[in-house]
Amino acid sequence: MEKVIQHIDDNFNNYLEEFKEYISIPSISTFEENKKDMISCAKYVADKLKSAGMENTKIIKTDGHPLVYGEWLGAPGKPTVLIYGHYDVQPVDPIEEWKTPPFEATIKNGQIYARGANDNKGQNFVHIKSVEAYHKINGTLPCNIKFLIEGEEEIGSSNLGKFLKQNQKLLKCDAVMISDTSLFAAGVPTISYGLRGLCYMEIEIIGPKQDLHSGSFGGAVANPINELAKLIAKLQDKNGKITIPNFYKDVQKMTKKEKINMNNLKFSDAKFAKELSVKELQGEKGFSTLERLWIRPTLDCNGIIGGFTGKGAKTVLPARASAKISMRLVPNQDPKTIAKEFAKYVKSLVPKSVKINVTELHGGLPFIAPLEDKAIEAAAIAASKAFKKKAVFTREGGSIPIVVEFNKQLNAPVILMGLGLDTDNIHSPNEHFSVNSFKAGIKASAYFLEEFSNA
Ligand SMILES: [Zn+2]
Repeated sequence: MEKVIQHIDDNFNNYLEEFKEYISIPSISTFEENKKDMISCAKYVADKLKSAGMENTKIIKTDGHPLVYGEWLGAPGKPTVLIYGHYDVQPVDPIEEWKTPPFEATIKNGQIYARGANDNKGQNFVHIKSVEAYHKINGTLPCNIKFLIEGEEEIGSSNLGKFLKQNQKLLKCDAVMISDTSLFAAGVPTISYGLRGLCYMEIEIIGPKQDLHSGSFGGAVANPINELAKLIAKLQDKNGKITIPNFYKDVQKMTKKEKINMNNLKFSDAKFAKELSVKELQGEKGFSTLERLWIRPTLDCNGIIGGFTGKGAKTVLPARASAKISMRLVPNQDPKTIAKEFAKYVKSLVPKSVKINVTELHGGLPFIAPLEDKAIEAAAIAASKAFKKKAVFTREGGSIPIVVEFNKQLNAPVILMGLGLDTDNIHSPNEHFSVNSFKAGIKASAYFLEEFSNA
């Protein structure tokens, strides 16, 4: 292994040069005019997989942008890891806010500036290079490897889900490795093992048949906005608990190990509040901020529509009002069940003076990988070795639908070994990725292959 690490150090400058080529292809998946670039980018990835020692490399057509696949299955009896990433990137506008050209990797102050530097070209290139280094030094690999790099992540991965479902045999593996999340803090190796799910609802309160004069009718007829506000206020109690019946029924409790891990994370409420320009944080009583963000479900009103919103005053009693309400869910809450409970409950809250319509807009399952899983442990050991610091375990407050899909379709644990930082400006001008993370990431991936092969 030392030789592999030495090889990565010796060749790191070449990797950076090669990476510039990857960056230079404007693989913006959302624009029709970049279709050609998407194809050349897929070719670039396929070539790199080949030179990393992958066999059966192919560019797979889909109804959208192609997928790139490559495998090396020369270690019978050893486990198989499927490495996922995406070669497509977000658009670059507003272009005038970029300090360096977005499709020219510019290295400055220890950062690589470019669109895709972090999300996700940088984070998947790391794995390609680690496999290449290992293969070059040893002429073989310690475990079986499959790569699946898609071109539609930034536009919803609509063809990947179908592909997973139809190719379970081809993609069969013992673990899925994804580097597309963030480090807990700069230089701190991080394994994320949980994501929240989502249940997104819309409610509409309907009052009189048309908008009314608030002088002639106000006080005698229910006002849909007032009723909507009352209803929203009832959804949480004074301790920040959500009042929907059975809402917490399926919420999984943290294990002892998780609790210890979470308590070990250095997190400052004051700093967090300051960054957001709020005087203090708030949330469900009895839980820390990280717990509120990662392991507890939430309910937020995302928008309210109704009445007169123009400049000046108009005395109107509106005929209708609506609100968009989202709930972040945690294992083992089911978005379908929650949507039903939500609908039943809000219907019970409105008075007879108004009508209510409830619509389920969209939902997604939460995800959790067991911390005791051998693949997760192998990743934590590998990342610790590469970063020369003990890896931390985190969960994320957000949702990554494709993770749930991998987990479900391939029935394998998903390792989220993110290497970026939340402050790397992904999807924004001046996206960047730390050169140190890039290098440590390649090493972490190489160490992982070996740790995983003995797991
Ligand atoms: Zn992205």
